[in-house]
Amino acid sequence: MIETVNLKKTFGDHEVLRGISQHIEKGEKVVIIGPSGSGKSTFLRCLNLLEEPTSGDVIFEGKKINAPKVDIDQVRQRMGMVFQQFNLFPMKTVRQNITLAPVRLKKMTQEEADARAEELLKRIGLPDKADAYPGMLSGGQQQRIAIARALAMNPDLMLFDEPTSALDPEMVGEVLSIMKELAEDGMTMVVVTHEMGFAREVGSRVLFIDEGIVAEENTPYEFFTSPQNPRLQDFLSKVL
Ligand code: ADP
Ligand code: MG
Repeated sequence: MIETVNLKKTFGDHEVLRGISQHIEKGEKVVIIGPSGSGKSTFLRCLNLLEEPTSGDVIFEGKKINAPKVDIDQVRQRMGMVFQQFNLFPMKTVRQNITLAPVRLKKMTQEEADARAEELLKRIGLPDKADAYPGMLSGGQQQRIAIARALAMNPDLMLFDEPTSALDPEMVGEVLSIMKELAEDGMTMVVVTHEMGFAREVGSRVLFIDEGIVAEENTPYEFFTSPQNPRLQDFLSKVL
């Protein structure tokens, strides 16, 4: 589905990603954990070219996407992204938030997009919120809508950057359960999170990013029961 080859990213003289080579298969759920500032968000943002790699390649569905002639908007339509801060448009209703991109990009008529929005709202358990404004909703509801908005374009890959980190604790579960359902439906997912339960339960592979490299990766069971890297052992001892 998506592959990085010796991916590096430098800001000024700070080498944030120091060579990441990863192969993510269709249907995989890759969970990324690691200390703050280690490059997790930068890695995710390089996958959909919100950040331009300094060197190395990103290959999506068999095609190198960090190349001059690639239409990056076209590529991004195939990838949904969900951020820590939900980034909904505050002056637009929930329905408008969900239908804006597919209609503007001429993927659907307004009617088709409205029907899709209705279906997605049902799926995330908020069928009666189409006409609400984001500010009227709880953080957990807003994040579920941000997920629905990302799904409206029928992406092949979903990227999540700490989707529950800005939520009050009682709302974390409702967002994780939507993500879990999405995983069960077969979506290919890359998820940066501090939710170790989710990593264990949903991840097909867990990566530990530390100082800009993948310092360890394994199946969740091995990753959590027999971490090899001392810095991962230390990290886990603090978060578990
Ligand atoms: P993480 O998501 O693991 O907390 P980030 O990928 O956000 O880490 O950041 C990694 C490092 O890169 C940090 O030191 C951060 O300050 C730096 N960084 C991220 N984005 C930028 C940017 N646009 N300009 C300069 N430095 C940045
Ligand atoms: Mg981050």
